[in-house]
Amino acid sequence: MSRREIKAFAVPAAGAPFQEFTYTSTPLGPKDVEVKIECCGVCHSDLHQAKNEWGGANYPLVPGHEIIGRITAVGSEVTEFKVGDRVGVSPQIGHCKTCNMCQKGLDNHCRNIMFNYNSKLNDEKQPFTYGGFAEYHRCPAEWAFHIPDALPSHAAAPLLCAGLTTWMPFVNHNIKAGMKVGILGVGGLGHIALQWANKLGCHTVALSSSPDKEAEAKKFGAHEFLCTKDQKQIEAAADTFDFILSTVSADIDWTPYLVLLKPEGVLACVGLPVKMSFRPGPIINKKLVITGSLLCSRKEIQNMLNFAAQHGVVAAVETLPMTAANCDLAMKKLEENKARYRVVLVNENFDKN
Ligand code: NAP
Ligand code: ZN
Repeated sequence: MSRREIKAFAVPAAGAPFQEFTYTSTPLGPKDVEVKIECCGVCHSDLHQAKNEWGGANYPLVPGHEIIGRITAVGSEVTEFKVGDRVGVSPQIGHCKTCNMCQKGLDNHCRNIMFNYNSKLNDEKQPFTYGGFAEYHRCPAEWAFHIPDALPSHAAAPLLCAGLTTWMPFVNHNIKAGMKVGILGVGGLGHIALQWANKLGCHTVALSSSPDKEAEAKKFGAHEFLCTKDQKQIEAAADTFDFILSTVSADIDWTPYLVLLKPEGVLACVGLPVKMSFRPGPIINKKLVITGSLLCSRKEIQNMLNFAAQHGVVAAVETLPMTAANCDLAMKKLEENKARYRVVLVNENFDKN
C-alpha cells in the first residue's frame, strides 16, 4: 500500500514546545498494519526523550508509545488482524530474532531493538520512526496486540507501556502470593504495579515521597503506605522486603531501599534516571541483587493484557484532547509529579470507548 501523509505532534528541538508536524510514512509492508490512533498515554520516557536527557534523540521527535486504535489497513501477508480490529502498540515494534536474548524468548531485550519512535529507518521519506502523538501509526503486525473487549481504550492505553513494563519483573523474578513487595514511586508505572502486586496476592507496600498519595495508593491495592521521606518508617521496616520494584524517574539516594530488603532480596529497576547512586554496603552484606528490566516480551504482553481484563486492572487516567498545547501540558504535569496518574491524549474524531 502506498505511503500516507500522517499528522502528528513533534518536539522540534530538545525541550522546545510541541508543534504540528506532518510526515510521509513508509509504504505499508506485507507484514505491517496501519492503526488509526484513538488515544495515546504520556509516559515519563516521552519527557526524558523530548528533553534529550538520555542523549540520542533525533528531532523532530514524535513521542507517544501507549497507543490504542483501530486497524485501517493490513499488509498482504497479515492474517491475525483485519480492518476494524482494536489493537494496542507498545514502545517496541521490532526485534532481530537472532540475538541471544531473542532466542531465549526475551525479545524485549533484543540487541537490535526497534522502538516505535526515534529508531532509524532506511527510507528516503521517513528517516525515523514516529510515535503515537499522531493520527496514524504503522508497525509490523507481530508488534500489535488485540485489546480484550473488557478493557476500555482510554484506561487501557497505559497498559501498553506502564502496564507491560511493570508486569515483566514479576514474571522475571517469579514473584508469588505472600511475598512482601514494595513499589517505589507511585506514578504512571507505579500505580499499575501496585495493582499487579495486589492481584498476585503479594503483601503490597507503596513506597512514595508524596504523602498526599496515600489514600489513592491504598485504592490501587497497597496494604501499607510508607513515606520515603520519613527515616523512622524506613528503619522500622528494615530487612523485611522480598522484592522492591523501582519506578522512580529521578536519581535519589537508593541506600534506604537497600536497607528495606531482606538478605538476598531483589531491587528491580525499571525507572530510568540518568544515573543511580548508592552505598554498596547493604548489597554486599546482605547479598542483594540489583537488576533491571526493559519493556516486556511479546508473549508476556498478551498474558498481561489477559490478566488485566480478567482482574480489572486499568490505569487511573486524565484524558485531554490531542493538541500541541496538551502535549506540552502533559509533559509539564509529569515534570511536576502532578499527573494523576496517567495523562492520555485522545484523538476526538473517535467515538469514546
Ligand atoms: P511518573 O509518572 O513521573 O512517575 C515517577 C514517580 O517517581 C513519581 O510519581 C514519583 O512518585 C517518583 N519520583 C519522581 N521524582 C522523584 C524524586 N525526585 N524523588 C523521589 N521520587 C520521585 O513516571 P513514569 O511514566 O511512571 O515513568 C517512571 C520511570 O520509568 C521513568 O524514568 C521512565 O523513563 C521509566 N520507564 C522505563 C521503562 C522500562 O522499560 N524500563 C518503561 C517505561 C518507563 P512518588 O510521588 O510516589 O514518590
Ligand atoms: Zn513508556
